[in-house]
Amino acid sequence: MSSVAPTCHCGSESSFIDCCDRYLSGAESAPTAEALMRSRYSAFCLRNPDYLLATLQKDIRAKETRKALLKSFAGTQWRQLKVIRCQRGLLGDKAGEVEFAAFFTQDDEGGQLHERSRFVFEDERWFYVDGDILPPISLSRNEPCWCGSGRKLKKCHLA
Ligand SMILES: [Zn+2]
Ligand SMILES: [Zn+2]
Repeated sequence: MSSVAPTCHCGSESSFIDCCDRYLSGAESAPTAEALMRSRYSAFCLRNPDYLLATLQKDIRAKETRKALLKSFAGTQWRQLKVIRCQRGLLGDKAGEVEFAAFFTQDDEGGQLHERSRFVFEDERWFYVDGDILPPISLSRNEPCWCGSGRKLKKCHLA
């Protein structure tokens, strides 16, 4: 038995229990837009449609369906998250933006979602509103590989 818990899906240094699980389980609500974004990424990794619906801003939620979410999970394996920058979205703010790149494989093809997401603070919690899709980023040779192997890009998937 290993005594070292694996780090959270969202790429933080903490274990899942000490990180996104607190939010996914409903024990706590994410204190910042970044924490909410990370927890939603973890929910995609774990294919948890209920959390993804619950964390959508209510007007947006009215247009989303569980069925569409379940369909979006099929065949997609989320590999790694890289949070690029955050604007506001802290305690006391009413809105925030988080830019991230999320790497995935679909049918063995690698892909990337580079998005600037908008969040609002309503009824004492953060919600995801929507986002702008941006052109893919390139990782530098010494960054962790997009595939989630934990190796540097130059030692892994650098073509
Ligand atoms: Zn996490
Ligand atoms: Zn790799």
